[in-house]
Amino acid sequence: MKFTQLRLAGFKSFVDAAELRIDPGLTGIIGPNGCGKSNLLEALRWVMGATSAKSLRGGGMEDVIFAGTDSRPARDRADVTLTVDNSARTAPARFNDADILQVVRRITRGKGSDYSINGEEVRAKDVQLLFADAGTGANSPALVRQGQISELISAKPENRRRVLEEAAGVAGLRARRREAQLR
Ligand code: ATP
Ligand code: MG
Repeated sequence: MKFTQLRLAGFKSFVDAAELRIDPGLTGIIGPNGCGKSNLLEALRWVMGATSAKSLRGGGMEDVIFAGTDSRPARDRADVTLTVDNSARTAPARFNDADILQVVRRITRGKGSDYSINGEEVRAKDVQLLFADAGTGANSPALVRQGQISELISAKPENRRRVLEEAAGVAGLRARRREAQLR
């Protein structure tokens, strides 16, 4: 599963639509302090189904919406689209006919957030499982936040184990088992 493009609109400091092409190999993001580099990574984590406001450096889920500046009024919605190359056919059966997956997450003030994959409305769980199976989920150790290394060193063994499980790709299986047990 390869990420090929990230598109943001109204997300944090990205008030106007912005597109980031992700070519094969290494992509570097450079810029002065406060220009939005970390916000881009947060957008990536958010579209993959992150639900913890803390991991997105906000107090509540709506804090990801552009809050306005002296010169621009606040927005009342934000959306992020992640384009994924599925030519290796690693997506779950339901989406696996498509070469390209467009995963969209939107949030509107007072209305919460919703998700779609290739235009079809899906649950947060579907998006989380799609990425957890590929070992790239919103909690994936592939995404390292500032301060996360020291957090990991002092973490409880259970929490450290969760990180290892996400890396090993078993987090999706665990989530499915939990879901099956609830039925
Ligand atoms: P550094 O190099 O210091 O790590 P950075 O490039 O990672 O900086 P970010 O942390 O991504 O910068 O961006 C911070 C900016 O995003 C701040 O100016 C902050 O005001 C702005 N910002 C964060 N959330 C919102 C929001 N909801 N609405 C508008 N602006 C926001
Ligand atoms: Mg930063």
